[in-house]
Amino acid sequence: MCGYNLASEERIGLQDLRAQLDKVLASYSGEEMIKIYNSGSFLDSREIPLEFRQDILDGFEGAGRILFETRPEFVTEEALDEFPSGRISVAIGLESKSDAVLKNCIRKGFTVEQYVAAAELLGRKRIPLRTYLLLKPPFLTERQSIEDSKRSVSFASKFSESVSINPVNVQKGTLVEELWRRGDYRPPWLWSLIEVLKTGKECSGTRVFSSPSGGGTPRGVHDCGKCDRKVLEAIQRFTFSQDQSEFNQTQCECMVEWRALIEVQDVMNASVDADRYLSSELELE
Ligand SMILES: [Zn+2]
Repeated sequence: MCGYNLASEERIGLQDLRAQLDKVLASYSGEEMIKIYNSGSFLDSREIPLEFRQDILDGFEGAGRILFETRPEFVTEEALDEFPSGRISVAIGLESKSDAVLKNCIRKGFTVEQYVAAAELLGRKRIPLRTYLLLKPPFLTERQSIEDSKRSVSFASKFSESVSINPVNVQKGTLVEELWRRGDYRPPWLWSLIEVLKTGKECSGTRVFSSPSGGGTPRGVHDCGKCDRKVLEAIQRFTFSQDQSEFNQTQCECMVEWRALIEVQDVMNASVDADRYLSSELELE
């Protein structure tokens, strides 16, 4: 499901990274928190050279907190010791607490145990952890994906300061795109996302939130089209307030369809988009 292979460029070097940083620093005016969207592993020196890590820390000297992402295998004592204490937060994309899902649906390339080892090390060093979870990787039914994410929130919140739910967004050139084109995959419903956020919040004191990319479009997390904007706004409000009553006003007749799809998929034991199979025209961009 990941489209980064198409967006990757091996020839990017230190010079380019520095140019990018200079450009950002030109508009930096002392914001307290910096999030680096490295879309990979910040602690992997093949991606982000060591000297550049220091450039970033120096550049954002005024920032109290710098958040970056990394795979757990790069979270080592040695790597963390480079950073002054109290200034960094680390984000890890665990995606799911199930090794079977990591292996068969995502091909993540690491195990839950590796995540736990990294999370525990961060905990010992008092470095806050944000965990990303993936809602509805391919080959899971809508219900299986909801249950998987609920269990994963409950698991990850033991180690995390915050848990972010990322619904799958169909990206170009991926296997998921092919499945989606032929009706064998539908991105998750917004109702599913709400259920995960609500239950996630109930079972943990951790901040649980979602800022879905491509929300409300056929390629992203979506409902019927009529309620999407309102529901996405409620999700955004919840992200800040953490108050479940934000979802009280989000009702739509398509909830019936969502529940029916869940039941149909249970009976079929398949993750096909039953609605798309039954409708005569496939409306995809
Ligand atoms: Zn609707």
